[in-house]
Amino acid sequence: MSRQALEELKQQIPLLDYLQAHDWRPARRLSRGRLMGLCPLHCDHKPSFLVDPGKSLFYCYGCGRGGDVIRFAELYHQVRFPQALSLLHQWCGLAPLLHQAAGFYRMQLHRYGEAVGYLLQRGVRSPELIEHMRIGYAPGGCLRSWLMQLGYSLQALRQAGLVTAVGYDAYTRRIVFPLEGNLYGRSLSPSAPPHRFLPGAKGGLYNWEQVRRYPEVILVEGLFDYAVLWQAGFYNVTCSLGNHLNARQFQQLCDGPRTVYLAFDSDANGSGQTAAQRMSRLLGAQGVSTRRVLLPDGHDPNSFLVQGADARQFQHLVETARP
Ligand SMILES: [Zn+2]
Repeated sequence: MSRQALEELKQQIPLLDYLQAHDWRPARRLSRGRLMGLCPLHCDHKPSFLVDPGKSLFYCYGCGRGGDVIRFAELYHQVRFPQALSLLHQWCGLAPLLHQAAGFYRMQLHRYGEAVGYLLQRGVRSPELIEHMRIGYAPGGCLRSWLMQLGYSLQALRQAGLVTAVGYDAYTRRIVFPLEGNLYGRSLSPSAPPHRFLPGAKGGLYNWEQVRRYPEVILVEGLFDYAVLWQAGFYNVTCSLGNHLNARQFQQLCDGPRTVYLAFDSDANGSGQTAAQRMSRLLGAQGVSTRRVLLPDGHDPNSFLVQGADARQFQHLVETARP
């Protein structure tokens, strides 16, 4: 890649935009427009990450690392220079495309009785919740033509993973939840794999920007767990999309003083609780206090609430959670 192409890429992606899209927020403003906040590259407890938006450069007084947006992408995603470039290129084109796809799926939701029926079966009832999570439905077979009408090339759709190599919509009969930089699709059909993501990272913790300010946070495995808890008035809930944390999610939970309530599945093989114990040790080593919420056997937060428990009963489990 030529020097000029590198400069163009950097101009397309101001460092501050990229940082903000990855949940970074300044803690205070300094002279000449510079900003100071927690470092996203190490487990930081007092703001030591300096950003100069005018020059699109950063420097961390804690871990001593600094540079431009490409250097940041290398360190943040732990990849080499060429991979960092391709991630940044993808990021430029992907965000608007996923936004369009998610908008299309949202328009479909109420046109398909099977989709609404499935949501009801999983306890998702309130229009505010559907709006809050921007829930959509992928019937299959019509996203491609919609996006191509909007001017996207078939190649771009394939690269994003929205369309398969042979040209079909990748998501068929799936409830779709937009994530940051991805779309999660839950299958309605018992013969298809239940959980799917588009290629690429699943991103950070769900709705973290809103949740991070609570001193007590409830962490669940799945978005349907998140959904019913949010609907029941637990706004301090977040979701890791699986029972292990990626590096980014781990760093997010460590970004300030808080207690994390791990409300993982109480499944027969014990995998949810084993994962919760392991996570609790790892977070404890970083000074984050955790409690394990014990659900009745065979339940996850979704099934617990769907099968008749109310907010007060879940709150009781939270209050009696074990260290
Ligand atoms: Zn740092």
